[in-house]
Amino acid sequence: MAFKPANNIQDLQYFGEFGGVNPSISDSSTYTFLSAKTMFDTFEGNADGCYLYSRHSTPSNLYLGEALAAMEDTETATVTASGMGAITPVLLQLCGQGDHIVSSRTIYGGTYAFLKNFTPRLGISTSFVDITNLESVEAAITPNTKVLYCESVSNPLLEVADIKALAQLAKKHNLQLVVDNTFSPLSVSPKNLGADVVIHSLTKFINGSSDTVGGVVCGTQELIDQLRNVNDGAAMLLGSTMDSIRAASILKNLRTLHIRMQQHSHNAQYLAEKFEADGLKTVYPGLKSHPSHELFSSVMNEKYGYGGMMTIDVGSLDKANALMELMQERNLGYLAVSLGFYKTLFSAPGSSTSSEIPEDEQAEMGLSDGLIRFSIGLDADIERTYQMMRQCMTDLNVL
Ligand SMILES: *Cc1c(COP(=O)(O)O)cnc(C)c1O
Repeated sequence: MAFKPANNIQDLQYFGEFGGVNPSISDSSTYTFLSAKTMFDTFEGNADGCYLYSRHSTPSNLYLGEALAAMEDTETATVTASGMGAITPVLLQLCGQGDHIVSSRTIYGGTYAFLKNFTPRLGISTSFVDITNLESVEAAITPNTKVLYCESVSNPLLEVADIKALAQLAKKHNLQLVVDNTFSPLSVSPKNLGADVVIHSLTKFINGSSDTVGGVVCGTQELIDQLRNVNDGAAMLLGSTMDSIRAASILKNLRTLHIRMQQHSHNAQYLAEKFEADGLKTVYPGLKSHPSHELFSSVMNEKYGYGGMMTIDVGSLDKANALMELMQERNLGYLAVSLGFYKTLFSAPGSSTSSEIPEDEQAEMGLSDGLIRFSIGLDADIERTYQMMRQCMTDLNVL
């Protein structure tokens, strides 16, 4: 039977302290114990259901984590203050001095910068590979490799990772496969394809309101316990803790994710088809021309479509900038980084979100100057949006 992630969220039941239909928000940084023995046990990690201190966990954070674990079908999850606050502790928990990571080269700019510039200071090295080329992935694995890292759908080029095949490689070489699923919540279920750890930046589609940053690590109870361990847990000790009030608000937004993803995907599919037919170089996994179209189609939870992200190439940075400014002027969206908002967001990744990647490497991976990345919004009348965007393009001689 096909996996139904939205049902798993829908089926959770909450009762607040006073019978409210939403769980009560835990508004405390510290918690009392009736007996000193229980406090000791909690420090030792042996007192389930007891709370110690809010950097460790809070009832509100656990509710949100439980819902996200249900969505990703993992044993459990821990929420964090940002997506980077989820990615960095996981990698530092799994790797230490002398260890090696094999990572996709087309990953979020912050993750790339962390692996390229920061972790070498701790003696952790990374080989960046073309994740769609399984031979080069395997060739990069060394006896010191601990982690295979990728995004299900990569930023900004929307390459789709073959998670099943990567999971087989990971198993063969005894690696942990860590997948950032930020671009494709509900559409792709990495754990069911063999991933060991699934990460999201909640900042994007999952929260969907562009009002906060947040992150989550979904994985086994063992990994999450390790991350939260008071003695050597990276999530606990590095302190990227989500605030309870935020956890409660993200949980409420999560409940409409399935409706929003369907609309994001519907709108992006519509625009991608139109732009491609107009002769624009358009990249969207829902287009038959996309190199990963077949692969995405074979693994996706069909109902949620191919996601809200697409790119077009208008030839030069100057043209890209002019088009984005005009689209913003005509209220078609915002010239802003990030994704998953109700309005369309656009940016030129080469000079913004992927600017951490050196220019020669950008060119090698096909990240050109004239590329515009769109996070397509929830527009109720996408045909009108298309007509207006097309008018901007004609006015600027892009089309
Ligand atoms: C935004 C993003 C991140 C980082 O998340 P923050 O919440 O900004 O820390 C990581 N991975 C991907 C794919 C992203 O888009």
